[in-house]
Amino acid sequence: MKKWYMLSFLICSISAHWQSLYNPARSAYMHKTWHGKKEVTVKKSDCVFCDELAQQNDEQQYIIKRFDHVYVCLNPFPYQHGHMLILPQRHVGSLDALTVHERAELMEVIAIAVSALKEAFNCDGANVGINIGKAAGASKPDHLHVQVVPRWFADTSWMHTIGQTAVVAVDMHQVYQQLKAQFDDH
Ligand SMILES: [Zn+2]
Repeated sequence: MKKWYMLSFLICSISAHWQSLYNPARSAYMHKTWHGKKEVTVKKSDCVFCDELAQQNDEQQYIIKRFDHVYVCLNPFPYQHGHMLILPQRHVGSLDALTVHERAELMEVIAIAVSALKEAFNCDGANVGINIGKAAGASKPDHLHVQVVPRWFADTSWMHTIGQTAVVAVDMHQVYQQLKAQFDDH
């Protein structure tokens, strides 16, 4: 009896630590992108980003805009609504593998993305970051991607980093349309 009690306590402790909040908007979005994509996509490479680009179906892939060397898309696993990724179109994993023109455009598009978030969602700030290499926490280290996450005073983004929980309350298609409109002039 004591053993069962200890086992239940252990399971409860683990599940409490790795809690997730139910969120219909997020699950609908993930179903549409990842599950839906698998049904209609012929996999062309081992890179999800290169496959995404090759589709030529930007709205379905949530690609907001293609520039000359880089492109912008919504993160399929957002920390916040409006969480974007900015990536080189070439399959490279580090900043020094980019050309000068690619790096320059990458920085330019980061600036546009932060402005777009402020205009579309009136955020108070943004986190901009790159994990270069697996040791730095990159889940897909072979294709460089810059994370741009909007922040508000007293927002809930801390929950993802500290509590392993993501809270996303806004419909992703709506977010896509709002941000796409901001990129139209660039
Ligand atoms: Zn790639």
